[in-house]
Amino acid sequence: MILVTGGAGYIGSHANKELNLAGYETVVLDNMSYGHEDFLKWGVFEEVDLGDLESIRKVFGKYEIEAVMHFAAFTYVGESVEDPQKYYLNNLRNTLNLFQVMNEFKVKKLVFSSTCATYGNPKKIPLTEDHPQEPINPYGQGKLMVEKILNDYSSAYGLRYVSLRYFNAAGADPECEVGERHDPETHLIPLILDAAMGKREDIKIFGTDYPTPDGTCIRDYIHVTDLADAHIKALKYLDAGGSSEVFNLGNGNGFSVREVIEESRKVTGKEIKATETKRRPGDPPVLVGSSQKARDILKWQPQYDDLTKIISTAWEWHKKDN
Ligand code: UDP
Repeated sequence: MILVTGGAGYIGSHANKELNLAGYETVVLDNMSYGHEDFLKWGVFEEVDLGDLESIRKVFGKYEIEAVMHFAAFTYVGESVEDPQKYYLNNLRNTLNLFQVMNEFKVKKLVFSSTCATYGNPKKIPLTEDHPQEPINPYGQGKLMVEKILNDYSSAYGLRYVSLRYFNAAGADPECEVGERHDPETHLIPLILDAAMGKREDIKIFGTDYPTPDGTCIRDYIHVTDLADAHIKALKYLDAGGSSEVFNLGNGNGFSVREVIEESRKVTGKEIKATETKRRPGDPPVLVGSSQKARDILKWQPQYDDLTKIISTAWEWHKKDN
């Protein structure tokens, strides 16, 4: 069986669905701090906090786990600056607990959710995997620490892992069985769609004086189902004996905040009021990644690779989930 930590969350639930569709059996482990009960549609569920070593051991004792996909983590960059301890305890210490139990039970394959936030401010675009990693917030810092620890564990214990550095995860499962639901919501696309639904008055544009063609930040949006698919390809790569690797996951196309708002107006047919405000601290002007390595080695090919498809699936889910 495949253990999916954080399988009741946004990306974890999409990966859990794709794993089951591909014929894998899964155990979802989640402490339900941010998870959603109605996302637990596939596999068996164990409510466990990764802070609790004994409970993790029980899960590994109960099921025959052959590989782990580790999604469980806090993901609010701003919060990580205000309360770094919260992030290091969960994203780092609790992750080490998981690795400790994997080691005890001789589970040697891992797919780890990393992030483009490990790069910090880009020196060169598109970002490739060999770009220097100099994170500018505790969230990115903690993920980078785990990447480094994995490298040591891999040499010492024969663990083989794939770290996947996500760019901006967006969109929702096309069948609308799971989707994006954060509380509080901070991400651009769901907030724009809230404005389209009339649930908020407007969307705030954080900064219009960036050195980009229209003055707003550019990001690389990648569909969550494509991310999920990359995890399965990473697992197959490890199953085939592949050595430990890191891969970027993005579309390689950047869209500005204004472009995302404009496309959302087209997809929803709603006006969507935009209000220009000041920059949000810590936002680099452009984050666009090259995923050539994942395409070459994992044979990963994003299917929802244009902004219209990404926003359309997010909109279908958003209407249903409100
Ligand atoms: N953004 C914005 N208004 C919002 C939320 C986000 O202008 O209400 C901008 C944000 O500054 C960034 C981009 O949209 O440039 C994507 O932000 P998001 O929080 O979705 O993802 P991040 O890039 O922080 O991972």
